[in-house]
Amino acid sequence: MIRLTFLGAAGTVTGSRYLLELHNRRILVDAGMFQGPKDLRQRNWASLPVEPASLSAVILTHAHIDHTGYLPRLVRDGFSGPSYVTLPTARLLPPLLTDAAHLQEEEARYANKVGSTRHRPALPLFTEEDAKRAVATLRPLPFDQPFPVHAGLELTYHRQGHIIGAAAVGLRAKTGGGDHTTLFFSGDVGRYQVPILKPPTPYPGSTYLVVESTYGDRFHDGSDPADALGEVIRETAERGGIVLIPAFAIDRTQEVLYLLRQLAEDGAIPPLPVFLDSPMAREATEVYRQCVREHDAETRALRAEGVDPLAPPNFTIVGRVSESQRLNSLPGPAVIISASGMATGGRILHHLRHRLGDDANTVLFVGYQAAGTRGRRLLEGEPEIKIFGQMVPVRARIRSISSLSAHADADELTIWASEAATPPRRVFVTHGEPAASRALAERYRTRFGWECAVPELEETVEL
Ligand SMILES: [Zn+2]
Repeated sequence: MIRLTFLGAAGTVTGSRYLLELHNRRILVDAGMFQGPKDLRQRNWASLPVEPASLSAVILTHAHIDHTGYLPRLVRDGFSGPSYVTLPTARLLPPLLTDAAHLQEEEARYANKVGSTRHRPALPLFTEEDAKRAVATLRPLPFDQPFPVHAGLELTYHRQGHIIGAAAVGLRAKTGGGDHTTLFFSGDVGRYQVPILKPPTPYPGSTYLVVESTYGDRFHDGSDPADALGEVIRETAERGGIVLIPAFAIDRTQEVLYLLRQLAEDGAIPPLPVFLDSPMAREATEVYRQCVREHDAETRALRAEGVDPLAPPNFTIVGRVSESQRLNSLPGPAVIISASGMATGGRILHHLRHRLGDDANTVLFVGYQAAGTRGRRLLEGEPEIKIFGQMVPVRARIRSISSLSAHADADELTIWASEAATPPRRVFVTHGEPAASRALAERYRTRFGWECAVPELEETVEL
């Protein structure tokens, strides 16, 4: 018998954790951190219902913190590995987990300083040392090759296109009498018509399917993000202003670089200077450059012609803080890409402080802005915004491109599932707000006739 418990990403999009109990062993698929409002983040402090030391392995789908950020805590609490990942994920995780540890340590320091905590002293969820120990448990595996996790259980990673290294997890488990049960975890499903990475591998079919539903009830607008990006850059360049792009370090940044190069090459924008100013984005861009097996046909063709697909003309990668500060006196027109994507932290804050007051400039958001973030407040047109304790007037233009997203929408989630060779016996729809999960379940029911459930947090099912 196989037991599956939904320890996260049930009723919400973060904290992906699925506990599998089979063959007298325990395996955790994804070890995500809960993110967002405080009541969700508080769940990171609740201990797992099983001893971390009793887990025989962790299997991670991709590098995003809501799928991996709990690993250092697990290791701190007694889990000793192995943690399976794909090769690109193994390269992204050291800087990502270290960065997450710094944030945790900073938050704890801040809470102690202002006394905003019931816990004295406030402690970080994990430290840089825990992150290092977590990284030491990583065991990279190639795509598309079955790997024996233990006798009777085989793991295969399937490319998912969402970010570099993102995978779906296929498991083939021996049951009694020489039979097998197959389980398939979608991870986060990527998109089909986006540059750089290979598209998602279609769902091959399995006995059970656990599928994400972030955009289960939504559709991306079909507009070409390159057109919108080109327009904003031309307008701002004519005013002699700076286009400031807050971007997520992984994937969104690389996509923006790709589009900027393409636009400049097509003569759709002037060859103005482009600066990438984010240590994490710089590391991620290196991983995107070097993991050439992940590139789609178009990107491979560009490389074969000697073109660096991620380097617009006149491109500078900013290193030290002093170089970043020098950008404050940079005259326009120019483009500055910096993290974080929702302007909640990182070097983007310095640039916003220096550029928001000038109406020649544009702040261009290229991703979802969660409620309560500076990014959302700017998009909602607030006339001034607090940065480093100071109110900064907003005179720069605020624009947004909504068609850049790393997540499949409801149609793409349907296309992804439509080629299943064998229909799943049962589908568990997770990783979505409740309405989105219900909508995708209904869609799969109507379209494919599949039996779909939307599990509750901590619900256990017997398979
Ligand atoms: Zn993700």
